[in-house]
Amino acid sequence: MSELIVGIDLGTTNSELAVVRDGQVQLVPIHGNPIMPSCVGLDPAGRLIVGQTAKNQLVAAPESTILSIKRKMGETIKVPLGDRQFSPEEISSFILRELKLEGEKFLGQPIRKAVITVPAFFNERQRQATQVAGDLAGLEVVRILNEPTAAALAYGGGATADETMLVYDLGGGTFDVSVVQVEKGVVEVKASHGDTHLGGDDFDQLLVDFAVQEFKKRHQVDLLGKPPTLRRLKVALERAKRTLSDEPFVAVREEYLDGERHLELELERHIYEEMILPLLEKTLECIHKSLADVKLTPAAIQKVMLVGGATRTPLVQRLLQERMRLEPRFEINPDLIVAMGAAVQAGMIAGEQRHSILVDITPHTFCTTAISRSEHHSLICVPIIPRNTPLPTSKSEVFATVGDNQDSVNVQAYQGESIWPQENTFIGDFLISGLSKVPAGNQVVLSMALDLNGMLKVTATEKATGLSKSVTMDTRGKVALNIEDARRNIAGLIDLDAIPGESAPEEEVEEEAGKGADHETLLTTAKDLRKRAEALLTRNISEDDANEIRDLVHQSADAIAKRDWEALGQQNDALSDVLFYLED
Ligand code: ADP
Ligand code: MG
Repeated sequence: MSELIVGIDLGTTNSELAVVRDGQVQLVPIHGNPIMPSCVGLDPAGRLIVGQTAKNQLVAAPESTILSIKRKMGETIKVPLGDRQFSPEEISSFILRELKLEGEKFLGQPIRKAVITVPAFFNERQRQATQVAGDLAGLEVVRILNEPTAAALAYGGGATADETMLVYDLGGGTFDVSVVQVEKGVVEVKASHGDTHLGGDDFDQLLVDFAVQEFKKRHQVDLLGKPPTLRRLKVALERAKRTLSDEPFVAVREEYLDGERHLELELERHIYEEMILPLLEKTLECIHKSLADVKLTPAAIQKVMLVGGATRTPLVQRLLQERMRLEPRFEINPDLIVAMGAAVQAGMIAGEQRHSILVDITPHTFCTTAISRSEHHSLICVPIIPRNTPLPTSKSEVFATVGDNQDSVNVQAYQGESIWPQENTFIGDFLISGLSKVPAGNQVVLSMALDLNGMLKVTATEKATGLSKSVTMDTRGKVALNIEDARRNIAGLIDLDAIPGESAPEEEVEEEAGKGADHETLLTTAKDLRKRAEALLTRNISEDDANEIRDLVHQSADAIAKRDWEALGQQNDALSDVLFYLED
C-alpha cells in the first residue's frame, strides 16, 4: 500500500480534505459534512472551536470568532481572539488541525503529510505562511499547489492530450481567473488575474443593503446602525441567495429582527441578477486581461472550469456562454474540485496510479416550451436543467400565462440543446388546469427534478394559489445512446405494429386526441411505406439504394419517436418518391 498523503483546500470561506483510496478520489466528511467553514472561535468556556460550530456563534459572539484569515496570510500581524492574540499562521493551523483530526477519525489512520492549495497570485511569503501553518498543525506540507492547477488535475488535465484551459474561480471573498496550459503532461498556470475583494460575500452584502432599504420603507427603522442585526440579516440572506441558484423566488422571513418587527421579504432571481451583474461584468474583464496576457482568444480555450461556491449562480454560467462564447464545465462540484485536485496530486506523489474522478451528470439539457416574445411569439425550448449538471438535481423557473383568464397550461418536457422543440427529443407533457381566472401574466413555477435513475419529475405550480400537478417521466433510453431509437428502427422493419410511441407517457394520450386525426394519417402512411420498403429490401437492389431506404426509414422512426409530425410528413414524401422509382 502506498503512503497516505491528503489533499487540502484551505479556503478563505470553506476548507475541504480529500484523499485517493483504491484509485478513487474521496472527500472526507468533517463533522459530517464535506465542506467545513474556515472559521475559528472560542466558546463561552474559552475552548477552541473550529468549523460550523464556530460559524454558528458568529452572530452572537463576533469578538470570539475569526473568519477569512486567509486574507491575512503572509502579513506580520496579530488578530485578537478572546483576550489573546494570534498570528494568521496560527489561526490557519487550527483549521488544518481540525481537518487532520477529523480525517484521522474517518480514515482510521494517522495523517502526517499533505498537499495544500493556494491561489495562483499568492506570493512567496504567503506560500511560506501556509507551509508554516501546516507545520504547526503537525503536517508535513509535501507540496504547495496552485488552486487552478488543482482544478485542472481534477478534470484529468494532462492525462491525454495537450490542452489550454481557463479556470474561473469565484469563492466567498475572492475572484481569480487563470489560463492553465498542459503540455506533455505538465500542468502550468500561464496567466492569472483577479480581484481579491470580489466574491459571494459581496453578493450577500447587496442583498443586505436591499433588505435594509425595504425594512426602512416598511417600518421606518434604519438597521444600518445595528451591527448584530446586520450580521443576522447576512446569514439569512446568504441562505436565500443559495436558494436563488435553483429557484426563481425565495421568501425570507426573520421574526423579531428588530424588537417586535419581523422581516418579510420576497426576492426574485431576476432582480437579484440585476444587482450582481456589474460585479460579474468585472470578472469578464479579468478573463479578457488574462487571455490578452497569453495572446489567446476565447476560441483557443478547450475547457472552462468553474470553481468556487459562487459559480453555482446561474448568471455566471449564462454570461460566460452568452458574452464570451465559452462553454463552462461543472460536472465536478465547484466547491470540492480544488480539494479533489489536491488529492490527485497527493496521490501522484505517493505513487498511486492516475485515477479518474467519477461523477454522474446529465449529458443533455432538459427544457420546457414557452412562447417567446423575442422570437416572434414562436414556441421555443427554455432550459431548466442544463447539461453537465451533477445528479441528482432539482431546478425551477417561473413562467407567465399569455392569455387573460387562461385556466390551463400544457406543460411539455424536452431533452436537447436546441431552442426549437422540433430539434429536441420529446419526453412527455401534461395539462395543469383549474388556474385562477386572472389577466395574462399569472405566474406558474415549473420545476424539474432528475434522479440518478433518469426519472424526471416535472411539477407545475400556480404561484398565487399553490395549485400544483406533478408527473414523473422516464428519460432513459433517450439519454443513453439512443438505444430506444435503434430498437424502434429495427422493430419497424420486423414488426410493423410496434411503431408508434410505446414509451409515451399516459397523459399524452388525452392531449393527442384532439389533433389525433392528422397524426393518425401520417402514421398509417408511414407504416404502409415501411411495409413497402421492407419488401423492396428483400429484392435485388443496389447497395446504395438499400442504404438510402434504410436511412429514410430510420429518420421516419426518429420523427415518430420525437412526435415531430412535420418531419414525419417530409420523411413520408421522400420515402414515397424513392419507392416509386425503385418499385417499377
Ligand atoms: P472559498 O474559496 O472562498 O473558500 P467557496 O468556494 O467555498 O469559497 O465559496 C463560498 C461562496 O460560495 C460563499 O459566498 C457562498 O455563499 C457561495 N455559495 C455556495 N453555494 C452557493 C449556491 N448554491 N449559490 C450561490 N452561491 C453559493
Ligand atoms: Mg476556493
